Amino acid sequence: MSKELNRIFIQEPEKVLLHTQAALKRIDEVEDDLNALVTVTAKEALVSAMESQTRYVEKAPFSVLDGEVVTIKDVFCTSGVRTTASSKMLEDFVPPYDATVVRKLKEAGVVIVGKNNCDAWAHGASTENSDFGVTPNPFDLTRVSGGSSGGSAAAVAAGECDFSIGSDTGGSIRQPAGFCGVVGLKPTYGRVSRYGLIAMSSSLDCVGPIARSTQKIAQIMEIIAGQDDKDATTVDVLVPKYTETLELPLKGKRIGWAKEFYQIDLNSDIKKSLESARTTFEQLGAEFVDISLPHLKYGVPVYYLIQPAEVSSNLGRFDGVKYGYSASESDNLVDHYFKSRSEGFGAEAKRRIMLGTFVLSAGYYDAYYLKAMKVRTLIKKDFEDALVDVDAILAPISPSTAFKIGEKTSDPLQMYLADVYTSAINLAGNPALALPCGFDNEKLPIGMQIIGKYFDEATILNFGHKYEQFTAGAEWRKITTVI
Ligand code: GLN
Repeated sequence: MSKELNRIFIQEPEKVLLHTQAALKRIDEVEDDLNALVTVTAKEALVSAMESQTRYVEKAPFSVLDGEVVTIKDVFCTSGVRTTASSKMLEDFVPPYDATVVRKLKEAGVVIVGKNNCDAWAHGASTENSDFGVTPNPFDLTRVSGGSSGGSAAAVAAGECDFSIGSDTGGSIRQPAGFCGVVGLKPTYGRVSRYGLIAMSSSLDCVGPIARSTQKIAQIMEIIAGQDDKDATTVDVLVPKYTETLELPLKGKRIGWAKEFYQIDLNSDIKKSLESARTTFEQLGAEFVDISLPHLKYGVPVYYLIQPAEVSSNLGRFDGVKYGYSASESDNLVDHYFKSRSEGFGAEAKRRIMLGTFVLSAGYYDAYYLKAMKVRTLIKKDFEDALVDVDAILAPISPSTAFKIGEKTSDPLQMYLADVYTSAINLAGNPALALPCGFDNEKLPIGMQIIGKYFDEATILNFGHKYEQFTAGAEWRKITTVI
């Protein structure tokens, strides 16, 4: 798609500006219903589009993505543009610098049209935790878009942008991509810089793209991946030309099928779609191998001990003095901290701060946090062992398709269980590609994930691309959004 777009731009450079104007018009049309954007940067976008257009006139675009219209989840710092993390705490925060991923995309010539709504601080699986209202699902406005990158997935699905950048700590790119019928990649931990990402859980956070095709994801990854001096957890591993291996045949490739995924209460339409995807991969020449992930069932409990522990530490910096919301009246410094945090944070952030502080406290650290870290090692080993024999693992993303707005808000535990297929992969650190594989009988998208070896995004992108080509004419691909 992007290559096509760029060919048009080279031949007809005026189309860059028209393309941006069309996206801004689309945003105008759908935002009242969709609320996928916390901030629209129309003025800046038109300036970027003009600059991009000039480059095309001179036949010197910066990259294959030059002139593409992009939105960014509002947890990434954008120089001079308000960055809220969808929380009242940062409602007026304007960062003086760009996150590395934003800087790289700007250097590639993209046009940023806005910042996406998400669950506040990326805590959630439905975008209902946002202090700026929910982002409904473009396929059914009474349902959630998923979370926490719900605004990003909805914006891509509804055609407000060509692609978006999200973050995935326990499933937040893959689950909304699945719910909204688009493609999302959680890269290997350390593959894409987290510099300038408002930290949720530093040992789990991954930065990745959401787009309408695997090919686009590959193009974006060529630009955003790589070692960064500003993030010590990025690794100096060669970034391959992902677009050059998309067409490799799948003949002889081995895909793992773990029974543990199906021992969980999984919606029957999703199970059927996964089985049909399995058949497609077999038709493409891949072979399925039974594997076992015995510790998978501990994914959610372990995730909900380690992640809040890190959240409680990362959110410690929001004290009403250095950043963000500051209580207007207080008696002394401690009272000021107390009031600023009580008023600035929402219920979910408070829940996680309390849980995290508890599991790190003397007397409970060994029983909870340390134990969870040990089980994390076992989960990681499960994936490492399984991926010795196979090239990738096929799995569901979520136990259900998009649920109703309000359905799980009164029961946080139910919301946490939405991460049952995704959080273990963040604990292990592997890359995973989420892509559409069908619709349920209510015309809601179904997604699947392809989990890969460390730093082997190339293989899962190859799998995804071949699957997309093979199923391009499928009936379910004709179902469209309702807005
Ligand atoms: N749903 C998960 C949570 O609430 C995942 C969040 C994320 O990946 N940012 O923690």
